[in-house]
Amino acid sequence: MPLAAETRRRVIRLEEINDAFSREVIKAGGEKLYVCFQCGTCTASCPIFKFDESYNPRLIIRSAVLGLMDRILNNDMLWLCAACYSCTERCPRGVRPAEVIRAIRNIAAEKGYIHEFFKTQADTIINYGRIWEEEEFVNEMREDMGLPPVPSVNREEVKKILEYTKVKKILASGEGED
Ligand code: SF4
Ligand code: SF4
Repeated sequence: MPLAAETRRRVIRLEEINDAFSREVIKAGGEKLYVCFQCGTCTASCPIFKFDESYNPRLIIRSAVLGLMDRILNNDMLWLCAACYSCTERCPRGVRPAEVIRAIRNIAAEKGYIHEFFKTQADTIINYGRIWEEEEFVNEMREDMGLPPVPSVNREEVKKILEYTKVKKILASGEGED
């Protein structure tokens, strides 16, 4: 008899375990990954979990320990972390979950898994040098409030940084992988 979807999700098959992925996460910034004792303090502290219980940093850490690469990288949940660092402040084992999640995101991006929202945001930075397009009405509103115009951005400098940090290349490698 076929397993129900929820049971399938909970059962870990041996072929899903990828030790190399765990080591990659450790190397990319998750140095204390293996000392997590699954207390759940990170999840209890997480504002995203309060909003949506399907986002669970404890589970992401556990999955990384077990090397469940495909489960993590194929899940949009990875991109919900708001990088507020509440989990990192409170983790009793110093795992620094926010850094682990950031390391996993970096690995995901290099492998071509980038959430569409982040691609759009990165494109805006590439095109405008910041995360939003400068609109004239913004400066008009600022003027009405007695504020100076938004400082201009040196787009060429931003472009050079993005090229140097390989952001453009990584974005291009992720095209068509959604
Ligand atoms: S708070 Fe730290 S030790 Fe506890 S589950 Fe989260 S990462 Fe693991
Ligand atoms: S850094 Fe991310 S995982 Fe940690 S508490 Fe904040 S939103 Fe949750």
